[in-house]
This record gives sequence, structure tokens and C-alpha cells, in this order.
Amino acid sequence: MIQKFDALILGGGAAGLMCAIEAGKRGHRVAVLEHSDKLGKKILISGGGRCNFTNIHCRPENFLSANPHFAKSALARYTPADFIALVEKHLIRYHEKTLGQLFCDGSAREIVAMLEEECRAANVTIILNSRIQEASRGDEFRVRSENAEFSAPAVVVATGGLSIPKIGATSFGYDLARQFGLKIREPRPGLVPLVLAQPDRSRYSELAGVSAEVIASCDGQQFREKMLITHRGLSGPAILQISSYWEKSLPLKVDLAPGRAVTDALLDPKVPRNLTALRTELRKVLPIRFADRWLEHHKPAAWTNAALADFEQQVHDWIIHPSGTEGFEKAEVTTGGIDTDELSAKTMECRKVPGLYFIGEVVDVTGHLGGFNFQWAWASGAAAGRAL
Ligand SMILES: Cc1cc2nc3c(=O)[nH]c(=O)nc-3n(C[C@H](O)[C@H](O)[C@H](O)COP(=O)(O)OP(=O)(O)OC[C@H]3O[C@@H](n4cnc5c(N)ncnc54)[C@H](O)[C@@H]3O)c2cc1C
Repeated sequence: MIQKFDALILGGGAAGLMCAIEAGKRGHRVAVLEHSDKLGKKILISGGGRCNFTNIHCRPENFLSANPHFAKSALARYTPADFIALVEKHLIRYHEKTLGQLFCDGSAREIVAMLEEECRAANVTIILNSRIQEASRGDEFRVRSENAEFSAPAVVVATGGLSIPKIGATSFGYDLARQFGLKIREPRPGLVPLVLAQPDRSRYSELAGVSAEVIASCDGQQFREKMLITHRGLSGPAILQISSYWEKSLPLKVDLAPGRAVTDALLDPKVPRNLTALRTELRKVLPIRFADRWLEHHKPAAWTNAALADFEQQVHDWIIHPSGTEGFEKAEVTTGGIDTDELSAKTMECRKVPGLYFIGEVVDVTGHLGGFNFQWAWASGAAAGRAL
């Protein structure tokens, strides 16, 4: 028997649930089809279990997309303040950790429970363990899962990106877009640790766990935050942020001493010009083990002013050619996705396929680290939910 609804929402993550709530509140008969046994699995593991659910400084510049204007409309119509109002209505306690990032005081489970409660209030039907096998369009859309068949005049694809396949990420959204002849910008891992190529890898991987504040830059973008050395390469917020902009052909530049002049002290005639003095200065800027290892590999060629200037420049311009990323297994998001040219910025509906909508991470809009990806999920979900 075919189950009929006004709208079928494929994927019960952040964007799908927000869309269902907004559509349900407007009296539509909505079903969320989720292939996992639980809703919002990514919300549950987000923000170290505390869910960085939004960022109060959210601006369009915090997003990557081939069309930087696309996200503006949805972001303006569902703002961080709207989501905060929802969180406060449900008496969920939260705090600002840093840089406008809002986290639950308790657990990310509270955010999923809040969305479930809102779905119940809006009479949304939730169908778990429902792996979608096929979607097609005749007079209406038909969606077939392993054990049921559904039809509706509207389908919203909210199946997310490719990151973290072990908790249920699939390529379904991209496959469906291809089936309908829609353009896709190559999906790639974003907010992901980078793998160092040799010789940097053997030089620095022993220092795994050491971190320093740096400026990481690539392709005209830069982030001043912490960098962490890992067993295979580099991570930490500065590297995760810049990884979303990095492509294999591009070099990455790391300033290991932002705003500091390491060799200044040695220009004083009273200070001896030798390795001990330089090590003392470098250790003021970098953790001891990192400073010492750096000096082993970047000893000044001489103690002249020119050689010291050269050393200074290398500290500020560490040029890295990573061999790759840690891939979708470790990526927090997927960059690229459904080309925004295919969608209405106001409603997220496909221009070529009326009734078909794409929202959340599957779309070519990717946020910086810090609560922006959830804000995009809420905003794009609300835009589609209100338009259904
Ligand atoms: C470890 C980690 C931590 C993160 N922390 C944060 C954070 O603190 N703040 C932040 O802003 N962002 C964070 N993110 C990113 C954020 O989780 C995502 O950008 C956001 O969840 C995207 O929402 P979505 O609804 O588009 O996709 P998802 O939340 O991934 O939801 C997609 C849903 O579709 C389901 N699905 C997939 N394929 C099918 C199919 N074929 N049939 C049926 N269902 C299907 C999935 O099971 C899933 O439930 C984090 C990501 C990770 C991996």
C-alpha cells in the first residue's frame, strides 16, 4: 500500500527535522524517512557531545559556496536568534564558549529531544530504519524504501554530506540529483586534518599532541587559531578551517609566530648571536619541543643580519604541500554538493524539477568551524519548510 503525504523529507538530521517542523506547523502532512534507528545522529556527536548549535556572529562570509550570495536569503530569514529562542523555549541551558560559538551546558541529546518534541507538536510522522532505495517522479513523487512505498507532491532531500560514513552518511542526495540531471560541485572533505608529505612528516610527527597559535593561510583566506601536530600531519581549528579551502595543487602557508619578531632580541649588540640565544627566543613563541625541532631543521646559515632575517621569514612563512587530507572518515563536513544555480535561494526548490528541494549539507554551501554548519541546516530547512 502506498502511504500518501503532502511532503516527504528524506533524512532525519538537522536540516530535515527543522524543515519538517516548519512544514508541519503550517498544517502539512509531513513524513521524515530516516535510514538509521535514531534521529540526528550527527547532532548527538557534534561539538564533543555538547553540540555547537549556532554562532551569534553568523554572516554570509562564514560560508563557502561557488555562489557566495546564495545563502544570504535563507540565513537572513532564520537567524541564530530564532534558533536561540527555540532553545530557550525548551529551557535548554547553553553558554558561549569562544568566538560566538554557542554550546549546550548539558548534552547534545537535549537538542535532538527538542527537535523531536517540536516534530510531535507539529504532527510530523517519523519513520526510522527506512533506507530509501529509489525516488521517481510521475504525477507525484514516489519514494520506495526496503519495506514501504510513499507518494507526495513534494520531496525534500536532507540526506547530508559524505562525512563520517560509519554513522550513516550516504551519497543518496548526490545520486538523486544526478538522476534528475542536476549539476553537482565535486564533494570533498572539509574541516578535516591534513596529512604532511615528507620530509615534514618525519620531522614533526613525533611531536603529536603539541599545539601552537598560528595563522594558516591558503587561496586568499586565513585563520588565526590553534594548530595541533598529529601522528600523520596537522589538525586543530586553524588547520581544519583552512582545509576547506585547500586543494592539492595549492600550497598552505603557516605563520608560526603571528605578530611576533623572534630574532629582534639578537639584533641587540649586547645579546650573543648563537643557537642558545635563538633557541631561548623561539621557545618564547613556540612550545619547547616544537621550537627545538624547528631549529634543528632551520638553523641560520650564518649569524649575519641577512641570515637572521631569512630565519625570521621562514618562521612566518612555513610553506607546506600536504600529501592529502584524512578523508571523509575524519571530515566534519563535505564541501561542494548540489550546485546552487539549480536551486531557488528563497525556497531551496529545484528550478528544473518543481516539487524537489535540497537542504543542508548536501547543497554547495559549507560553513566555517564554529556552529555555522548547523545554522545553515536550520536556515535552509526552515526556508524549504515554509515554502512547502
Ligand atoms: C564529528 C562532527 C561534529 C560536528 N560538530 C558540529 C558542531 O558542533 N556545530 C556545527 O555547526 N556543525 C557540526 N558538524 C557538522 C554538522 O553536523 C552538519 O553540517 C549537519 O549535521 C548537516 O545537517 P544535515 O541535516 O544536512 O545532514 P545530517 O545531519 O548528516 O543528516 C542527514 C541524515 O540523513 C540520513 N540519511 C543519509 N542517507 C540516507 C538514505 N539513503 N535514506 C534515509 N536517510 C538517509 C542520515 O542518517 C542522517 O540522519 C559536525 C560534524 C561532525 C561529523
